[in-house]
Amino acid sequence: MEERHLTCIGCPMGCQLTVTMENGEVTDVTGNTCKRGDIYARKEVTNPTRIVTSSVRVKGGKIAMVSCKTKEDIPKGKIFDICKALEDVEVDAPVEIGDVLLRNVCDTGVDIIATKAVGCK
Ligand code: SF4
Repeated sequence: MEERHLTCIGCPMGCQLTVTMENGEVTDVTGNTCKRGDIYARKEVTNPTRIVTSSVRVKGGKIAMVSCKTKEDIPKGKIFDICKALEDVEVDAPVEIGDVLLRNVCDTGVDIIATKAVGCK
């Protein structure tokens, strides 16, 4: 039997979760105040994923950078590679919220989208 201790990131309460596992299977989750904590804990110990937020350069824009994020969750182990890949990305102004700035980032099948609009100079 193995126990993992996590802090739930589902809301600011930050419940302290204890996940009990046996042979790689989750057998129990305690410490959660709501169902979201249970779901988070089970996913975190078996297939942890995250939304990545960052920014990329804009050519010819009113401002030099545009904030962005992964459109969906990506595997937690890819976060560093994605941040590195975004360092080389430069998009042309104008940019609208929701524009795809990079497709299939690091072969995750997930696009990077803009979270801010940037007009032309
Ligand atoms: S278990 Fe529920 S109440 Fe507790 S931090 Fe997670 S989402 Fe919030």
